[in-house]
Amino acid sequence: MSKFSKDKFERAITTGAKVLGGDLDVDVVFIGNRAFTNGSTITIPSLPEDVELTLDQVNIARGYYHHEAAHIRYTDFDVYSKTVGLLRESGEEQKAEMCNVVEDCFIEREWMKEFAGSHKMLSIIHRTIDQNSYSAFLDKDQDKFEWWDIGLCAIQWRDGQEKGYDPMFRDRCLDMLTPEQRHKLEGWYDLVRSVTCTADCMKVAQQIVDEMFEHDHSDTMSELKSIEERMDNWDNLTQEEKDKLVEDSMKAGDKAEADQKTGNGKVYVPSLDLAKVLQGDDGGSGKKPQQEMTYRPFTTQYDKIYDRNNWEEDHWHIAEKVFGDKADTEYQKVMKSHNSTVSVMQRKIQRAFGAHDLRGWEGGHETGRLDARMLTQAYQGNSNVHRIRTASQEVSTSVQIVIDGSSSMNYANLQMCILASAAVCKTLEAIGGECEIIFMPGGDANIYPEPLKMAVRKASEDGNTRFTRGTPITNICIKGFEDRLSRCRSALGNIVNGTCGTTPLHEVIHQSYRRLLPRNTNRKIQLLVTDGGPDNNLLCSEAINHVRSKDIEVVGIGIGADYIGEWCDRNVVVRNIDDFGTAVMDDFARMLLGERFNAKNERRKIA
Ligand SMILES: [Zn+2]
Repeated sequence: MSKFSKDKFERAITTGAKVLGGDLDVDVVFIGNRAFTNGSTITIPSLPEDVELTLDQVNIARGYYHHEAAHIRYTDFDVYSKTVGLLRESGEEQKAEMCNVVEDCFIEREWMKEFAGSHKMLSIIHRTIDQNSYSAFLDKDQDKFEWWDIGLCAIQWRDGQEKGYDPMFRDRCLDMLTPEQRHKLEGWYDLVRSVTCTADCMKVAQQIVDEMFEHDHSDTMSELKSIEERMDNWDNLTQEEKDKLVEDSMKAGDKAEADQKTGNGKVYVPSLDLAKVLQGDDGGSGKKPQQEMTYRPFTTQYDKIYDRNNWEEDHWHIAEKVFGDKADTEYQKVMKSHNSTVSVMQRKIQRAFGAHDLRGWEGGHETGRLDARMLTQAYQGNSNVHRIRTASQEVSTSVQIVIDGSSSMNYANLQMCILASAAVCKTLEAIGGECEIIFMPGGDANIYPEPLKMAVRKASEDGNTRFTRGTPITNICIKGFEDRLSRCRSALGNIVNGTCGTTPLHEVIHQSYRRLLPRNTNRKIQLLVTDGGPDNNLLCSEAINHVRSKDIEVVGIGIGADYIGEWCDRNVVVRNIDDFGTAVMDDFARMLLGERFNAKNERRKIA
């Protein structure tokens, strides 16, 4: 993908200003973090020195430039700022924002009559804004939105439809309105269509908000009306009726006042933080911007990682199965039957580390350390034959094991995972590294509120390829980096009872690597164990690439076949449990030692 540097980007925008501006005589400055114009200068957020922008980001910024230029050309700034200023002073936020929305509809319409080529860039901005509002509304726990909540956006969505902007998110947004609301919206949009100057926009905007308010509060409105009618008849009322009327009228007044407060309260304003779009946000690692578009449109609000300490919070039945039973029966079962495989491999790796370590200060004597006699004894499982060396600086390694918990994982596969995880953990513990085990049993759709469930179902029916899961990502941290394996045996064994759901691997990767990234070690490795293809190959490969771009090595371990190996740094396929002991540990050893060592005891050539 082509990238734009800061310089190239700023040049493109400034040239655009000259070409588009014509007789406008506009200055463009890059400063601060907002895009706006005051009638003679267009301000675009400044960019960090080393930023690289994608074509999409550049087009969004260009779109802003075109939009602001359109304000300069068509907005009557005196009328606009006077009206909006007064509205803000009297606390009428909704009306002030609606003035902006209607004015925007007007200026973009006029602008495109002159500069049809702007359509593409304006369309991208609107798609991005729609995408944000779509996820904002998905997160709200309501089955029907009131106008004070959705009104500003609704006018903008309807306008996007009129102008033929990108429908991807907009059409889904419009689908959140009831048929009755759609009908109302048509009426209001007729008003918007009729405007021919800023003064019209200000008038129409306020009329629309008044009507929206009336509609939202029709109960209060009709109550007030009936009270008025009763008042007209005041002289004919008995004292008792008069008292009642006064009481009713006070109540209705209070209610109307409360309504007014809600009406003026915080509303969702459909806008875009351009600085954020341009600078990206990568979870605080301080590295280059990297937009995670694959994960963003959908809410992560309900995603969660359960662990030893928080598993009881939501009574999720899967977490219950993993953490509820404190006996380590399942763990012991696997370890008993395969302990020799694991311990032999593990010891060899530890020994090799000792040898590796020594090479550093003795130099050239690697054969001397791998004493053949001792190896034979090690194979026989006698653990007294060697002393484990204390942790060396070189083993500053964090490993995160992510185990597929989809319903296709059978008992034998899960046993393999338990075995391999235990072996990797034990090895790392012995040589001073650290290890986390994440188990991913699909997720629980019941955690979503009903409207979100529906929206998700609809999105997947519509074939929305950016969303591969119908549930929140609820994973289980079997063992954290800080935990000792001995405290986590029961949970590790219990994964045999905890499978469910599908394989939303790409979302799980995005969720879990953020735990690995801040670890204070030199080397970071993510081991992904799966027994089937991920829900979406393209997105999964993107996610793996993303993690690799953060200097994390990704290893794919396929059970039965290779599913994700081609995208990973390394790739191991295992077919049965003995394979697992050898193949996984062998590869793991090679990896830790930089290919020099083979746990099967074939000494490898140093490349
Ligand atoms: Zn505007």
